[in-house]
Amino acid sequence: MAKQVLILPGDGIGPEIVAQARNVLDVVNNKFSLGLTFTEGLVGGAAIDATGVPLPEETLAAAKAADAILLGAVGGPKWDKLDMAIRPEKGLLGLRSGLELFANLRPAILYPQLAEASSLRPEVVSGLDILIVRELTGGIYFGKPRGVRTLENGEREGYNTYVYSESEIRRIGRVAFEAAQKRNKRLCSVDKANVLEVTVLWREVMDELAKEYPDVELSHMYVDNAAMQLVRAPKQFDVIVTGNMFGDILSDEAAMLTGSIGMLPSASLNAAGKGMYEPCHGSAPDIAGQNMANPLATILSAAMMLRYSLAAEDAAAAIEQAVSDVLDQGLRTRDIAGSSGESVSTQAMGEAVARVLADR
Ligand code: NAD
Repeated sequence: MAKQVLILPGDGIGPEIVAQARNVLDVVNNKFSLGLTFTEGLVGGAAIDATGVPLPEETLAAAKAADAILLGAVGGPKWDKLDMAIRPEKGLLGLRSGLELFANLRPAILYPQLAEASSLRPEVVSGLDILIVRELTGGIYFGKPRGVRTLENGEREGYNTYVYSESEIRRIGRVAFEAAQKRNKRLCSVDKANVLEVTVLWREVMDELAKEYPDVELSHMYVDNAAMQLVRAPKQFDVIVTGNMFGDILSDEAAMLTGSIGMLPSASLNAAGKGMYEPCHGSAPDIAGQNMANPLATILSAAMMLRYSLAAEDAAAAIEQAVSDVLDQGLRTRDIAGSSGESVSTQAMGEAVARVLADR
């Protein structure tokens, strides 16, 4: 049966970068006979302008009906003064909760050609390819009770609850083990089991799950050590799985190892494997409409979509290889060009990837 992809360009550079990803998807759709069909929808500021709300019912319904969603970015100064409840970002949150996207996958890949872009020494990061799987809808960010209360002595006290049920741990664990199976089959579970009971349970459930995935080598690491190891020797990792708060922090740390925000894709998945795929960066209003944004994070997000939601590993790998090839050819958008390098436009970069794919 034909698989449906919903495209949500969004705001700022969103439409420019998504157009290039769409072009690349058209090429692999033909080349690998994937049978994908595409529809487009409104989200964020673009949806506010057209309908008054950041996530029109039609868009949510189309997202629920689709097999996967590719999103550009939302937001911009034009909508910054609106009430919080109808800001563009609410469109994203509505999609995440409406589709129960509990698993956030963020690869940190440093193409060897761009090793100079990192703040770490090239030999430490060149060829880095790690995947952080972060639990996105539970843990201390959502646990109850929470709040600020006044004690009998008049002092105020703030409190949150760090809670994970076995089933929540198991479902994010499965996503991580399965992702590791598609990569180098090593999974590091990050916790604070020396201090926090909730992560003692986390560790136990990961150990139980490991028996179902004998081909994956599971290890455990405390979060403080993981933060240190990520900057000391990041290439020791393949897949990292962790809870919401630790994942929030470690995934930003890992992203920055690569030094190039325009290169980083992401995926948010639900239990059925449906996912929303988007670049890690925002709508970059400062360069919107100037044909200078880097489309590669969005093109790589499309590759992740093919791998994780559309069972098209060959097409995903072909896109990733084509991105590496255009970097080998020396093509750079402005953000990755370095101080002296020449840069190409958004469109030229996207077309170069599509051309490499079509010619291969
Ligand atoms: P940003 O990621 O949009 O931009 C940060 C810097 O990186 C800017 O200088 C920008 O020009 C540059 N940049 C980002 N993507 C680039 C690309 N593909 N190519 C070249 N350069 C790129 O973050 P910001 O400036 O903090 O936020 C701008 C808007 O985006 C805000 O409205 C914010 O709320 C929104 N935002 C949206 C998302 C999302 O849609 N998921 C994520 C973050 C921020």
